[in-house]
Amino acid sequence: MDIKQMIAGYPRLPLTPLPTPLEFAPNLTDYLGGPQIYIKRDDLTALAFGGNKTRKLEFLMPQAVEQGADTLITLGGVQSNWVRQTVAVARKLGMEAVAVLEGEMPQDCQGNLLLDHIMGAKLIYDPNVTQALEDQEIQGVFPVTGKIAADYRAMGRRPFLLPLGGATPLGNLGYINAVDELNDQMQTLGIRADYLIAATGTGGTQAGIECGLRLSGAGTKMLGISVSHHTRPKEEEIAELCNATMQMLGCVGEHFESQEISVNYDYIGQGYGAVTQQALEAVRIAAETEGLVLCHTYAGKAFAGMIDLIRKGILTRSDTVVFLHTGGGVANFAHSELF
Ligand SMILES: *Cc1c(COP(=O)(O)O)cnc(C)c1O
Repeated sequence: MDIKQMIAGYPRLPLTPLPTPLEFAPNLTDYLGGPQIYIKRDDLTALAFGGNKTRKLEFLMPQAVEQGADTLITLGGVQSNWVRQTVAVARKLGMEAVAVLEGEMPQDCQGNLLLDHIMGAKLIYDPNVTQALEDQEIQGVFPVTGKIAADYRAMGRRPFLLPLGGATPLGNLGYINAVDELNDQMQTLGIRADYLIAATGTGGTQAGIECGLRLSGAGTKMLGISVSHHTRPKEEEIAELCNATMQMLGCVGEHFESQEISVNYDYIGQGYGAVTQQALEAVRIAAETEGLVLCHTYAGKAFAGMIDLIRKGILTRSDTVVFLHTGGGVANFAHSELF
């Protein structure tokens, strides 16, 4: 099916030059002695130091604009890349930005938080955001940000709520589009990826990729490396998101079962943001072989997973692997003690 045609009917706000580069990583490939490794550089999108959320926002923001929103409200961790990119797009469109940050106000204002601050976001710290509340935010119920939106409405403002990570069927179009872009790039290079590897947080990026791979009939297998523990198996949530997206697109015949979705939980460590030796090693290897800057929370854990799967012989010399660099390098500035 032609993806370009399929998503052409959805308004898209251009926020970044596309395509992002697809680069061969020769030193890394040599160093690991395994598959041919290519890097899809989604760290190079254009919203205040980039990252994977920009592609989702391209499809989410037209709705906010259409509704005449004057304030964007969302939530995330203190070092949230999602919050940083959301604040940036709000400012670009002349809107206020409000973010609920899970936890206490840290002593050092660094990394993503510093950027939120510079862009003049209103930041509300809430140490009582549980996993259950977070799950509801992802589902668009908004128990945390909903109260703030009500206050803004009472003040005569027009708030627009964005769910955690932008993981909605509309947001997923961003990564369906990315798969189409990647397929074109691989065709130009004369390669075909056996595996696409990326960090999985809310699962929206993986859901978009799974839909894109299915719709394009590409033989590539997506391996999501989870960066956090979840109350529900992530495969179920991702399959549901995929099905909702297919329904939105009118592809009623396409159905995803959770067994078709591959999420690996072996590289999380103690939990979201927890430091693992494997992730630190991965950050160093990427930096020293290719000058790529990953963070220990997202891309570093996914990269650690890729390295381990190569060392275990699960990814072999005859494979071609595309690693999706989802960004997040600015978080390192908040963690100089790790290096
Ligand atoms: C949000 C994020 C992810 C995970 O994306 P999801 O769509 O939430 O699964 C991965 N890497 C980075 C750097 C991110 O900011």
